Amino acid sequence: MAQINDNYLKLKAGYLFPEIGRRVRAFAAENPTAKVIRLGIGDVTRPLAPAVIKAFHDAVDDLAGIDHFAGYGPEQGYDWLINAIIEKSYKPLGVELKTEEMFISDGSKCDCANILDIFALENVVAIGDPVYPVYNDTNVMIGRTGEADEKGYYENIVYLPCTEENGFIPALPTGKVDIIYLCFPNNPTGTVAGREELTKWVEYALANDAVIFFDAAYEAFITDPEIPHSIYEIEGAKQCAIEFRSFSKTAGFTGVRCGLVVVPEGVMGTTGTGERYSFNKLWLRRTTTKFNGASYPVQRAAAAVYSEEGWAQTKEVIDYYMENARIIREGLQEAGFTIFGGMNAPYIWLKTPGGLTSWEFFDKLLNECNVVGTPGSGFGPSGEGYFRLSAFGHRENVVEAVERIRKNFK
Ligand SMILES: *Cc1c(COP(=O)(O)O)cnc(C)c1O
Repeated sequence: MAQINDNYLKLKAGYLFPEIGRRVRAFAAENPTAKVIRLGIGDVTRPLAPAVIKAFHDAVDDLAGIDHFAGYGPEQGYDWLINAIIEKSYKPLGVELKTEEMFISDGSKCDCANILDIFALENVVAIGDPVYPVYNDTNVMIGRTGEADEKGYYENIVYLPCTEENGFIPALPTGKVDIIYLCFPNNPTGTVAGREELTKWVEYALANDAVIFFDAAYEAFITDPEIPHSIYEIEGAKQCAIEFRSFSKTAGFTGVRCGLVVVPEGVMGTTGTGERYSFNKLWLRRTTTKFNGASYPVQRAAAAVYSEEGWAQTKEVIDYYMENARIIREGLQEAGFTIFGGMNAPYIWLKTPGGLTSWEFFDKLLNECNVVGTPGSGFGPSGEGYFRLSAFGHRENVVEAVERIRKNFK
């Protein structure tokens, strides 16, 4: 009989969002007239930009005719998309990248998971806490960890607590690690890292021959010119960092699916016999073997984000979400809450009042305000006592939710 991958049995059941759904459904059944407002799940609500839609339609028309039909494209993505991203998104930051250093994918979640393919299991991995759960669970699935303890920490992973005391930016590991996941602007805490913090991490990585996985899914939400959009704005990062970006939150592609990975040629690891070897070569090999490219219309649509029109329209949508963030942040501050994030990031991370646990506050907010958010403890043990609200809702819902919370808690 075929044997299963037992590592999957070490995973905690997908608990957070199903449990939220269960509690909301139970509440709605008992209170059928209540208008529940959801500021929980990190999905966008605004439609795609008109320039993106036009490019998408045009690309479908290409497929309808003999002259412009497109079949398999390059597995790593079309040059016209890669070069548009480099020109418009990296050059202005002072970051030079080669076409061969960027890979287009069908989204960043897969990339963050698949990248583990090209790293040996023996590597020691450091992960923030609280964190985007994909980083942790994919390491469990491939067998890098032991079992979880009662808190939810897995054996063989180095957890880096992100707390109010350290401003939700983790301290450097005390020992030597080989792989470090960083996500800025951060999901779930909405924290950003400045040049100084990122420099500290790059220096650590260079000194320890470690690789940083830098998840920049929310870089487009940065408005402060002092905050780096890319890890490669830091000197030396092209020798030690792999960067992930996504069109999901930036351009509303959560349902369309497109992302990218940058693997600079200078990022090296060691082979079993001790020679240095380029991760870029391995990632190319992996991509060409296991992937057949993001779809042609999707890449055309993604390229339209970098057109003059598309860029301006995309920015408008981001401004809309960031105005939501401002409304939530300021409204809750006025109501006496302690608030983090919500600037340069679409998430507001609040401290639960009166020492309530994250789930106690979830129930209180649902019952008293009919507003749904996400319990911080669902992102890791250090998230206990915190709560995440997302700025991705419709404006009128955001305004009403904040009004209800203010009335209830003042
Ligand atoms: C949403 C999100 C992503 C992007 O995922 P996609 O698969 O591209 O939709 C990546 N990292 C974090 C932290 C996210 O919140």
